[in-house]
Amino acid sequence: MERTDCGKYEWVKVDPDKCVGCGYCVEYCPRDVLRMDEETHMPYMKYRDDCWYCDVCRFVCRTNALELETVPYLIR
Ligand code: SF4
Ligand code: SF4
Repeated sequence: MERTDCGKYEWVKVDPDKCVGCGYCVEYCPRDVLRMDEETHMPYMKYRDDCWYCDVCRFVCRTNALELETVPYLIR
């Protein structure tokens, strides 16, 4: 699967000023949606369509670097 075009459709947002690249969000995502970007050392949504919008990634982030954008009703 191709990498998601983060700029257009991503709804898990990462604050680069807060992310420390620990990878917890990637590790604990129950849907295996996230991957670490090898260049930026930050997570991104590789399998966006598998996201349950469950909030686990945000919950486990110790630096509050993650935010979940509101997802349009039809794709939730
Ligand atoms: S909201 Fe849930 S399913 Fe979606 S990326 Fe975060 S942990 Fe994974
Ligand atoms: S859990 Fe938070 S600090 Fe760690 S990689 Fe994910 S977004 Fe970055």
